[in-house]
Amino acid sequence: MKLTTTLTRPLLRSHLPKLLTPSPSPSPFSYTPIRHLGIPPAYLLDTYIPRHQLLTPIEVSKKRSLAHAHLQNCNLCPRRCNVNRYHKTGTCMIGAETAKVNVIAPHRGEEPCIQGYCGSGAVFFSGCNMRCVFCQNHEISHTLSGHDLTPTDLATWYLRLQNVGKVHNINLVTPEHVVPQVVLSILEAREMGLSIPVVYNTSSFDSLDSLKLLDGVVDIYLPDFKVWRVETARRLLKAEEYVETAKESIKAMYGQVGDLCFTSDGIAKKGVLVRHLVMPGLEEEGREIMRWLAREVSMDLYVHVMEQYRPDAYVGRRKRRNVEGGGDGEVRYKEINRAVREEEWGSVREAAVQAGLWRFCEVNEKGGFHL
Ligand code: SF4
Repeated sequence: MKLTTTLTRPLLRSHLPKLLTPSPSPSPFSYTPIRHLGIPPAYLLDTYIPRHQLLTPIEVSKKRSLAHAHLQNCNLCPRRCNVNRYHKTGTCMIGAETAKVNVIAPHRGEEPCIQGYCGSGAVFFSGCNMRCVFCQNHEISHTLSGHDLTPTDLATWYLRLQNVGKVHNINLVTPEHVVPQVVLSILEAREMGLSIPVVYNTSSFDSLDSLKLLDGVVDIYLPDFKVWRVETARRLLKAEEYVETAKESIKAMYGQVGDLCFTSDGIAKKGVLVRHLVMPGLEEEGREIMRWLAREVSMDLYVHVMEQYRPDAYVGRRKRRNVEGGGDGEVRYKEINRAVREEEWGSVREAAVQAGLWRFCEVNEKGGFHL
């Protein structure tokens, strides 16, 4: 399950780049242009055309056929249910004709470069292929509440978000279990005039087949890398294959779209932004994740080390009383039943720097986007 972020400082017009600034000791001839808030040239785009606009008619029809084929024998995520979703459902409990959607709205709780000035066009899908005990969005992901929308319905909503909401992108939140429906909806929306980038906001529990289907459709991958140890994944995510899957998925995402790039307004248009939510007492796992990202993916990877963990979902609930009925039940997952300490977050952030990572999502002390 993905996490959304809350800005700790409002986004102000004064945060925009100042391209011309007087030098500290001005003289009549020492007016030097300084980029206070520059985007490194390697990550600056003059213009950007979303990838879905560049697909050829043959590629579109191949993707459509592949999407339907996957639904008839679904192995699209590591659960590998092998079911025909037109007739029955697998672990994710979602069929083939529709996706269940909880909320569609312009969203201002994402990273500054994703939400920008007008918001990100968020589509929160209900259900999930994971079962994280601490899920920070469990009202949506652990229930199947919401509306059943066909790919055509979804495409219509994307156009509304773009044309009425004026959002910067379409942000698909928890879409791993409905990738075929999502791909069909984007292909339809491009015919209807969709012209903004697509963000795939994932827990990284994706299969390579699924990412191949998304190649050419998604512009920005926003994967979480949650935990490092298999035992932790088994206990807290109920998915012991998570760690290896996340490694493989993030590498494949990076292979498709590379480093995060921006247009000069500071809005991200293409690339990978990896999130890691630091967990209480699990900071060593966070440090390992940072070292792996720098070593195996790229030191230029754009990373968000997140600190807003809170006990939620099953964490802190009491087990049932014992059979004799005596005593209070034990608190569940008590090892993560607290907030993260500042020093825990700091140690993960420091490990990231030590590993060579340098592009972080955080509030810029000098104001403006931190690019
Ligand atoms: S997407 Fe759903 S049906 Fe398909 S393999 Fe994953 S959990 Fe099973």
